[in-house]
Parts: sequence; structure tokens; C-alpha cells
Amino acid sequence: MKPSSTNEIHPGKYFARPAAEPCVVFAGKSLASSAISNAEGPLLFLGDANTLAALWRVGAGARPGDRVVDLGAPLRLDDALLSSARERVGRAEGFHLVAVGGGTINDLAKLLAAEGRRSFSLVGTCASMNGWVSANASIVRAGNKVSVPAVAPERVLLDDDLLAGAPAALAAAGIADALCGPFACRDWRLAELADGTGHDAAIAAAVARSLEPLTECLERGDEPDALRPALIDALLAGGVAMSEAHSSAPASGAEHLVAHAIDLLEIARGATPTLHGHAVAIGTLLVAALWEVVDEHLAAMRPSGAVTPVRPHPAASERAAALAAWLPTLAREAPRVVLAKEAREQARRPLDALCTEAMALAPLPSVDRVRAWLRAAGAPTRAAAIHVDAAFLRSALLLARDMRDRTTVFDFAHDLGVLPTRLDEVVTRSGLVDR
Ligand SMILES: [Zn+2]
Repeated sequence: MKPSSTNEIHPGKYFARPAAEPCVVFAGKSLASSAISNAEGPLLFLGDANTLAALWRVGAGARPGDRVVDLGAPLRLDDALLSSARERVGRAEGFHLVAVGGGTINDLAKLLAAEGRRSFSLVGTCASMNGWVSANASIVRAGNKVSVPAVAPERVLLDDDLLAGAPAALAAAGIADALCGPFACRDWRLAELADGTGHDAAIAAAVARSLEPLTECLERGDEPDALRPALIDALLAGGVAMSEAHSSAPASGAEHLVAHAIDLLEIARGATPTLHGHAVAIGTLLVAALWEVVDEHLAAMRPSGAVTPVRPHPAASERAAALAAWLPTLAREAPRVVLAKEAREQARRPLDALCTEAMALAPLPSVDRVRAWLRAAGAPTRAAAIHVDAAFLRSALLLARDMRDRTTVFDFAHDLGVLPTRLDEVVTRSGLVDR
């Protein structure tokens, strides 16, 4: 499964120091057909009805002796899908596994590869998220979505013809998943300042650099074909940033908690899943608005130093119960997470010192700028576009901080008293719902 090496691209190129590239990535035109026809042994294609049809459409057919496993139209990766895929793929000795798809099929193949101690290649059919090169897989277990260690693809083929034929909504989702980078990295830094949990400025700088060409394309109004190389680079850089940091932090902050909450509520309702990146778009606008209000609050504290910061501490049991009432599948975990967060809060750096450091952080893109980028990308900028409402946004601002034991702007805003006091202002400023 190897196209001409002239198509190899380097996801680590935005990193000032050499980054360990988790796998070999090829991008360009007609990659899939050349790689398949040049493959030495028999291949086993694993995909769904849409992704396999897309592959055949670009003229990359299975050869005599190859096998095809078509999973139909799965909605989500859960244990039922994993076990049916495991059964249908079998041991398949002598076959090289080729995952054909985006996030879900890639994650499924990562898990099968981990179980069977085998390698696999990915033929990406869309640029909708930044998980191409990561070794983690997301799977729904007991109504909750969890990330588990698995095996990254050995080779990733990003065929231009395939990506160009993917629905526009998928690329819009990918753009949003990349654009949250500055906000995720700000949370990463905030957590380091507050709790000393570690941060790497060089990785954060690489994420920022990788987004510059993408935002330039969006501001110029480039067509999808012109924008795609910048999108691919930004998504790959996000994936490499996570593996370099040994943490999802450089690509997943408070905005991803909002996306995760949307996901959990849809799983509970049995609803069709919103594209991950579309949910991230909503989370990013909410978080961009919150940071603006927090930054204004900090600026108002500066001249006199007289504004006394507040750090309210509702009882842990109350916090856990509120989270469980909102997201029932987190009920079992909620008390543990809240207790861990409470311990962090008690050991946290004094708030006035934290405020001084936070005032000196590099500026973030404004919520208006983020909205303009997302609009240009065709990503949602209104809550109703993904069937959530003002009540959901309010719950997210009040409760999402306790979904994970990691400090984000949600915690900082609560410590400062910005939340819940200025909650309505944040919702309004996000532009996600009408006043
Ligand atoms: Zn993401």
C-alpha cells in the first residue's frame, strides 16, 4: 500500500524541533488507485456503504483475491459494531487491512489492529477531524463515549479525488475541529499556570502556525480545492501535537467538553450524531465569548487592583448531582471527578497571582473573527443548526467544567465569579442564539 514517495507529506513540518511523526502520510491526486494497484499481497478493505462507494467511484477497485467488508451504514462506533466487524474481518491472515473512511472507520480499524497485533493502512475519505494519525480510538460504552488506547495506522493516504468528492459538511467539520486550537492551547496553558500540570510552548506555537494558512484561505474566501492542503496540514498538526504532548490538551479544551456533552445527550436520545467538528464549532463560539468576558473582567481588575476575586465552592455532592442530572451517563463518574477537581481547587495557585499571569497571555481570536471563519467554512454558527438551544448553552457554562478533571476557562470563570454572574452576557455574545 504505497503510492509514489513524491506524495509523502510531513505532519511535523510546523514544529520547530523535530516531531516524531506517528505514521507515514501521503497526500495528492490518484493516490488510492496507484497504492492499491501496486500493493504486493491481498488487501482486506473495511468501510461502510458510503466510503466504499466513494473509493470505487475514484477508480480504486478491489483486485481479484482482495476481500471487502462493508459495514452498511453504522451511526456510531460501539461494542456491537466492534464485535460484528471483528467477526467479519476474522483473522484474515495474509491480508493487509485497509480502513476506508473518516473518524469512525479509522477508530474501528485502530481497535481491530490493537486486538490482532496487526498493522493497517487508512484511506481517508474526508477531512472531518484530526484523528487520522492518533493511536487513540473513541468508542461508546455504557452510554458514555470513551477514548481508549489502540494502534495508529501505519500509512495514511489522503487522496485528493476522494476528499474533493466528500460532502462539504465534512470539510466544514474538519475546519472547525482545527480552528479550536488556540482556545484549547489557552486552556492547556491556564491549567499549567493554575495547577502546574505541564505545558509545552513549542507545541502550542506549532498548532498556531499550522492554522495561519487555513485562516488566510478562509479570509480570502478560497474554494474548497484551494483550501484543502491547508486543512490537511492543520488537522495533521493537531494530531501530531497531541502525540507530542502525550495528551489531548493541545487540541481539546473547554470547547471539546461542550462537544462531548452534545454527543452524550444524542447517544442518550438515540439521535443521529452531529458531526464532531460541528459540535466543536458551537463549543468554540461559546468559549470564545466566555474568554472575551473573562479578559474584560481581568482588565477591569487591573487599574485599581481593588476588585476582589471570588472563588465560590458549592458542595461537591451538589456539583456532582447537577452534572448527573444534566448528563446521566456521567452519574457514576461525577463524584470522583468533582472530588478530584475540588482537591485541585484547594491546591490551586492563589487567584490574584493567576489573574496577573492570565492578563499577560497572548491574545485570542475574537468571537466575531471565529464566527466569520466558521461561516466561511460552512460550519454551524447557530445552536439551532445542531438542535441545541439556549438552555443547553447555559447548562454547559454552569456544569461542563466538572465533566473532566482538567482545569479550563470554565473553572477560571467560576473562580472569578464571571460565572454564573455574567452567564447571559456570554450566551448573547456567542451569537449562537437570539437574545
Ligand atoms: Zn476534536
